[in-house]
Amino acid sequence: MVIRVVPDGWELPDFSPGQFAVLGLPPEANRSRLADVEETPARPGRLIRRAYSIASSSRASHYLEFYITLVHSGALSPRLFHLQPGDRLWLGPKISGTFTLDQAPAATDLILVATGTGLAPYMSMLRTELMASPERRFAILLGARHSWDLGYHTELVAMEHSSPHLAYLPIISRPAEEPVPWTGRAGYVLDLWRSRELDTIWDRRPTPVDTSIFLCGNPRMIDDMVGLLGEDGFTEHNRARPGSIFVERFW
Ligand SMILES: Cc1cc2nc3c(=O)[nH]c(=O)nc-3n(C[C@H](O)[C@H](O)[C@H](O)COP(=O)(O)OP(=O)(O)OC[C@H]3O[C@@H](n4cnc5c(N)ncnc54)[C@H](O)[C@@H]3O)c2cc1C
Repeated sequence: MVIRVVPDGWELPDFSPGQFAVLGLPPEANRSRLADVEETPARPGRLIRRAYSIASSSRASHYLEFYITLVHSGALSPRLFHLQPGDRLWLGPKISGTFTLDQAPAATDLILVATGTGLAPYMSMLRTELMASPERRFAILLGARHSWDLGYHTELVAMEHSSPHLAYLPIISRPAEEPVPWTGRAGYVLDLWRSRELDTIWDRRPTPVDTSIFLCGNPRMIDDMVGLLGEDGFTEHNRARPGSIFVERFW
């Protein structure tokens, strides 16, 4: 689901695209009927809090948008899925995180790789920076199980049509389950990299010198991608050893 949260009686702080905020609800809040019944009831009196990447532009200062998946057995997401427009929830006053574009050297093009809701921080980056950074090329490599799990698909297609600097490459892993035959790419985000389709679009092979790669979402996808990108000389960035892969693991 996509929700927008508005602060009540205070102002949102500035933030950089890619950062996250913390949402919370009390254990007494109802769970969505789509979710599993809670095996171990949440501890009463203690707010259930989780981090969520901001999907809205940092130029939209009066609300924060989030793109959230339902973890059926989870503690907070089933409660978030029960919310109705106008309901109240806890929004942490602090916005944090280092998964931001300022980590990447300004002269590099950007490949943003996600599965599922790992797309959220990239929506903030594109909505804020795509039109403001015409010297830079962006590519979104997005994997999901089904076509209907490709969040923001329509917006991304529209962005791709209106900007020559964006390449949007969605791929689904379960095409056999599509009610309408799927004619797009089938497989995993790793297959998108292996297919070298982006080399053709960009007319060059991305290298660690000219390209920064962001990976977000499922930690297994991130580990697999880091391994695969290593074959082309890309390494994960950390303070001690600068590299050109930047990661945000959701769990
Ligand atoms: C920096 C950061 C940013 C995040 N941003 C987002 C976001 O934008 N959207 C979002 O939906 N989640 C995001 N998450 C995950 C989020 O914080 C929660 O972990 C998630 O909503 C599950 O919480 P829960 O209480 O329902 O489940 P819990 O009871 O906490 O269960 C956690 C388990 O849920 C599964 N899980 C967690 N997140 C996901 C996910 N996104 N997709 C599939 N399975 C998952 C994993 O198996 C994990 O072990 C982010 C996490 C971090 C650390």
